[in-house]
Amino acid sequence: MTIQLHDTRRGRKVPFEPQHEGRVTMYLCGPTVYNYAHIGNARPAVVFDLLARLLRRRYDVTFARNFTDVDDKINAASIESGKPIGEITERFKRAYNEDMGALGVLPPDVEPCATDHIGEMIAMIETLIDTGHAYEAEGHVLFDVESYPDYGQLSRRNLREMIAGSRVEVAPYKKSAHDFVLWKPSTPELPGWDSPWGRGRPGWHIECSAMAEKHLGNTIDIHAGGQDLVFPHHENELAQSRCAHGGADFARYWLHNGFLSIDHEKMSKSLGNVLLVHDLVKEVPGEIIRLALLSAHYRQPLDWSDETLESAKRMLDRLYGALRGVVVSPAARAAAEPPAPLVAALEDDLNTPKAMAELFVVARELNKAESGSEREALAATMLAAGDLLGLLGQDPEAWFSGDAGDGLDAATIESLIAERAAAKSNRDFSAADAIRDRLAADGVRIEDGPDGTTWRRA
Ligand code: AMP
Ligand code: ZN
Repeated sequence: MTIQLHDTRRGRKVPFEPQHEGRVTMYLCGPTVYNYAHIGNARPAVVFDLLARLLRRRYDVTFARNFTDVDDKINAASIESGKPIGEITERFKRAYNEDMGALGVLPPDVEPCATDHIGEMIAMIETLIDTGHAYEAEGHVLFDVESYPDYGQLSRRNLREMIAGSRVEVAPYKKSAHDFVLWKPSTPELPGWDSPWGRGRPGWHIECSAMAEKHLGNTIDIHAGGQDLVFPHHENELAQSRCAHGGADFARYWLHNGFLSIDHEKMSKSLGNVLLVHDLVKEVPGEIIRLALLSAHYRQPLDWSDETLESAKRMLDRLYGALRGVVVSPAARAAAEPPAPLVAALEDDLNTPKAMAELFVVARELNKAESGSEREALAATMLAAGDLLGLLGQDPEAWFSGDAGDGLDAATIESLIAERAAAKSNRDFSAADAIRDRLAADGVRIEDGPDGTTWRRA
């Protein structure tokens, strides 16, 4: 089976065929580095890290994820904090990589910074001017959307309707309300570079077009990002790149993740509900956060709540519980492959809920298996699945000893079972049942036998 991916431009799931056999190029719009990443920003990082891991099973992948390190929000942060721009961007680049690393996000192959590609951006803008797709006006250079008939193709917008319904205040130097900035002038206190149009700085969209061209070529296989980037960012990247490259396609597949909300609300500074990964990883193992982010299909909205994390924790407790006490030799580990149905689920447009269900099928088999060799083989299969998913990387004992005694470590389970036995002998059956339910909610199944009560993780 070929890998199936949902392409935003075609609006449906399609078979994935890279431009060059055996090789895949992939670009993910990275963060603007002026503060810590919030949990919503982590969703594309984690989801497309998983996609890169999956593609690497079949292809030689070059995955680029950029840093936007020149932007008006960074300038504002610098003025507000009194710190130089370079200090701010360096600090938050480092923090981003640390925080994403804690979520099991592997470093991409290339991490280009916008400020290292100003020459490429200027060259691309010059080409756009020379070919009649851009014009200079009052120190700005603007992309002429009317020069590109396919404008709106990606986001399924009609340029005529957009112009007719436009309420944006039109800068006097723009030919059309939807023309967007490729280059803008900088005042002496703002970052700027010399250019044919005077000292200035690039617009946001041209940054990604220039970095993708430099590191991945004119036509890339996959371009990814959050849903909010479809318009205008990706529509504009597509317009610029195609026009600068004589009409060659820019990205063969466009992938967009759905948005993450918190307790059914949009995350926003004004609501005070912005959850930073940097804070969360101090309290919760990164693996739990990663699984929580992968718990919904990537194109669906994901509502984040305490329950999202608790449910991911319960799942990992069950998986590590199955692995506990099983010795897997290095040879068995090296030879193991993730289960075929799990890989098939991921290859079907990254169906992570189905993939997790398939992992639990193996965990349940392992719980039931009796022979040592069978248990070892099943545990090795689970670990291979974990390598692909970026999960189960810890020693199971360490996983449980890190447990803060919230009813899931062995000692707590044993003491709850003792409490239940005491309740039963006092004929307090409702208390006994409540303890059984509490254990079940944490994925612990108990069985009463002639020799007392035994337990295992379901
Ligand atoms: P930014 O730094 O704002 O450009 O965002 C970096 C990445 O995070 C982009 O791919 C955005 O689409 C994505 N993103 C931002 N907020 C959310 C959210 N609440 N849920 C999912 N993705 C988001
Ligand atoms: Zn971009």
